[in-house]
Amino acid sequence: MKNSLFALVLLSLLSCSVAEARRTGPLRKQTVNMVVIHSTGGPTCDANGKPIWVSAGTMQDNIRTIEAHPVLGIHYMIDRDGSQRASVPEDRIAHHVFAYSERSIAIELINDGDGKDPFSEPQVQALVNLLQSLVKRYGLQRNQIKRHSDLDLGYMPCNPKQRRKVDPGPALAFDQVLDRVFGVSR
Ligand SMILES: [Zn+2]
Repeated sequence: MKNSLFALVLLSLLSCSVAEARRTGPLRKQTVNMVVIHSTGGPTCDANGKPIWVSAGTMQDNIRTIEAHPVLGIHYMIDRDGSQRASVPEDRIAHHVFAYSERSIAIELINDGDGKDPFSEPQVQALVNLLQSLVKRYGLQRNQIKRHSDLDLGYMPCNPKQRRKVDPGPALAFDQVLDRVFGVSR
């Protein structure tokens, strides 16, 4: 009884510190000068080396997975209903994009990222609000808001004809999002 209780306490302590460690990261040395938008769904290679498409999943599952990942992280995740969850603090590095993580903030949208799955208005509005806050606080320009697909131009090892990163995909009206963030009317 005593042992199992001890084990239980130890386990909860361990899982606590591990979860905390994964929700943090190294302190930034570079100034934030970029925001990168992702979607949770996208292409990948399965265990047999075949190309597959991972669907959006739920925010709860995605948060659990990313916070359990030994390397990768995200600063914010926005669900289809517009609800938002913070993960890694902004002053810490989250590894989310090749070569630019040290100076960027990562926003993940729950979406298949296939260009077909629609982004709801509440989700887009929440993205606009979050971007406006980041733009204001870091003094960012329009060309400093990027999509993952703008930055990672590599191809999939299991399918050399398919781009590795295509998120958040063409279903996100990116120019319109930027117009709303920067107050441009057309
Ligand atoms: Zn991405």
